[in-house]
Amino acid sequence: MKITLAKKAGHCFGVKAAIKKAFEIVKTTKRSIFTLGPIIHNPQVVEMLEKRGVVSVNSLSQIDKGVIIVRSHGVPPQLIDEARARGLRVVDATCPFVKRAQNLARELVEQKYELVILGDAAHPEVGGIVGTVNGAAHVVSDADDVKKLPDKKRYGLIVQTTQSLENLQQVTSALLTKTVVLKVINTICNATTELQKETRRLAGQVDAMLVVGGRNSANTSRLAVISREAGVPTYHIETADEIDNALLQGVLHVGVTAGTSTPDWIINQVMERLRLINNTTKESAGEHGGINDGGRKTKPRNGRGGKAGIPGGQGNRGRHSSARQ
Ligand code: SF4
Repeated sequence: MKITLAKKAGHCFGVKAAIKKAFEIVKTTKRSIFTLGPIIHNPQVVEMLEKRGVVSVNSLSQIDKGVIIVRSHGVPPQLIDEARARGLRVVDATCPFVKRAQNLARELVEQKYELVILGDAAHPEVGGIVGTVNGAAHVVSDADDVKKLPDKKRYGLIVQTTQSLENLQQVTSALLTKTVVLKVINTICNATTELQKETRRLAGQVDAMLVVGGRNSANTSRLAVISREAGVPTYHIETADEIDNALLQGVLHVGVTAGTSTPDWIINQVMERLRLINNTTKESAGEHGGINDGGRKTKPRNGRGGKAGIPGGQGNRGRHSSARQ
């Protein structure tokens, strides 16, 4: 079985910076440290930080003193103001790309555009953007949602950083039927776009895909969706312990990708586990510190999207399938 790791799989610039900031705070303060919601959407990283005293809380009302780290997805600015008013020290680890989306949303509203945000309404990043414009926004998740919007003279559209370009194109087309003036600002983050592209490419070459990352991670879940759309059995796992040997029986080429919130050590453990499963794996050096990305150009020997050896070929709905939260 060939094992191929997607280029650029794993932590992006924004997530790395947020985690680095959290560890710096751990080293430099004796005060209690909190994050408002998980600092990134990866339960294993959150647990690691918890062991060092960084506690994730759901509400500022749970804190009366200490340091609050603002997660990479950002929060509504009102929450930052409230935290400061409560006397908390605020360390802002919002990714600059998320901050940019917040600022552009504000500008669109100031320029009298009716704001539309393409994204997941329940996701904290979208919540932060909506808060930035004091709720003056419509949130849509796809072109179907656009049908419910009223006709307006001017619409302005921005995008959650982890959305796909295809969805943005569809929503843009749908929105054009609702207005004569449409300003679209593509705020999809480059790290996301590149990783999605690479995942799509790899999924087209392998017999099965493992997508590694938090089940609560929007960008990881999207990678799983992209992989499934390529017609390949896809398993969304959080750690190496979830790899079921039986699922890989008969698979000649397995691809591995990971969301931007997935740390390298988890990816390394997955690659190591796959190597153990497959002692005869041929590997060549690639990115991620010697982990294989070889065979990226190799066609699967049992045909694209083959389900050989995968019980029921249940990649889309198998027990390792993602459950987006
Ligand atoms: S995926 Fe992009 S926007 Fe999100 S944290 Fe990483 S760099 Fe920032």
